[in-house]
Amino acid sequence: MMEDIVLEKVHEFFQEEETREESGFCTCSQCRMDVACYVLNRIKPVYMISGRGLAYFQTDYKERLQREADLVSQIRQGIEHVMAAKRPHFPHEQEKEVSMPKGPFFNFPHITGRFFNSVNFEPMCGVKISLLENGKLVKMVDFNWQNPYLCVPPTAGIFSFWPYPKSAEFVGQKSQVELEILVDEDDYEIFHHYFTVSLEARGSFLELGSGDRVHSMKDLYLNPDK
Ligand SMILES: [Zn+2]
Repeated sequence: MMEDIVLEKVHEFFQEEETREESGFCTCSQCRMDVACYVLNRIKPVYMISGRGLAYFQTDYKERLQREADLVSQIRQGIEHVMAAKRPHFPHEQEKEVSMPKGPFFNFPHITGRFFNSVNFEPMCGVKISLLENGKLVKMVDFNWQNPYLCVPPTAGIFSFWPYPKSAEFVGQKSQVELEILVDEDDYEIFHHYFTVSLEARGSFLELGSGDRVHSMKDLYLNPDK
């Protein structure tokens, strides 16, 4: 529930900022998402299982006002925080309103798994994990997703990819895509894992159905060189 509310409110903030004469902060889509993410990580989640619950949630006026006040202050903090952070990997500006490609599409699920050292069973870090199709690196949805992905200590061996959608001919078209996870690092035996994802074409870009949001793999093991 809160995701929609926060996104809407953050967009309001940024839209207002864009109409101002002198600009106070960057209003690119990446900064919007960073602010929304900051806020969402700091508020209490709200889940609903029925339409009635949703209606009640939306009409509880008093609580709603309070929530808005909290949200506004969280968003202000988020903007301050995001604008102060240096993110050299990201070229701001340039990708304003990239035109959306036309569907239908085969949208990929998030592809995720976890690597362990096969000798001591510790989660891997510092290794580069690649996702390939026909021997070539698979393009990711955007620059927030890396391929190859470098495992870092905080994620404890977990990796994830989100491939860029492929064009389809019609909604409902089925396709099987053969993919490969490759790790080729010094000190470890070369690792290949082949798997297939089944996709069904949908009308819009990055539109996921309930069944295909995540493809998680069994645990994977790297063998140290002898
Ligand atoms: Zn920005």
